[in-house]
Amino acid sequence: MTTLLRAESVEARHGLLQAVRGISFQVAEGEVVALIGANGAGKTTLLRTVAGAHPLAGGVISYGGSSLAGVPAHQRVRLGIAYVPEGRRLFPELTVEENLLVAGRRARPGPWNLASVLESFPALKPLRARPASRLSGGQQQATAIARALMTNPRLLLIDEVSLGLSPKAVDDVYACMTVLRESGTTVLLVEQDLNRALSTADRVICLLEGRIVLDSKTAGVTRDEVVTAYFGFAGRQP
Ligand code: ATP
Repeated sequence: MTTLLRAESVEARHGLLQAVRGISFQVAEGEVVALIGANGAGKTTLLRTVAGAHPLAGGVISYGGSSLAGVPAHQRVRLGIAYVPEGRRLFPELTVEENLLVAGRRARPGPWNLASVLESFPALKPLRARPASRLSGGQQQATAIARALMTNPRLLLIDEVSLGLSPKAVDDVYACMTVLRESGTTVLLVEQDLNRALSTADRVICLLEGRIVLDSKTAGVTRDEVVTAYFGFAGRQP
């Protein structure tokens, strides 16, 4: 499989705090990778660094074989890197359809447009004219993912997929994930829910205090091994 994203000795800081401490991993084209780890492990910082929303303090991030050094966030979007931040950040006063169309304005060529996105996310169809401020958390997350798709990404970065959502809403959002997989989109997602991460992703990367402590195909790892990596020791359940 072709490598789409490669991180080599990547470091990122918040002032003096080193949040990401020299980590290396690869994501292959078409792969769905879940990034897990306890609060403060560095997951959001890493995702933001790949998106260009946080400065790289060391190492190299390459995408499609070229370094992203010096490439600003908006150009990364044009290269096909779409980022769904924690908290979803929709335009609250715009409708679902307007939120989608705004993202589509600078879209790369590709299969996704308003019609195809609504076809793949049928739950959004009846909500087209609803302001984003009046959506439930799950509807907002689905809209945020659909909005990112409107840019025709090759690499979709999704932070905290199920945070704050009801179990039913999480089911609906993960139904979207099936669409992404079938469309061949490469996905790097942050997921607090270990069971979801293990059942959805092809591979799981676990961060602990800014370092990778586990990087494995989900098929090749047990839940206990993941839990041990998650906490740095065995015994507790997340
Ligand atoms: P969470 O699940 O809580 O979002 P995370 O794994 O995404 O955690 P990060 O949010 O990347 O972790 O945080 C990594 C480290 O950087 C933590 O120690 C955190 O306190 C610190 N940090 C994050 N954002 C900032 C910030 N804006 N200013 C200072 N320190 C920060």
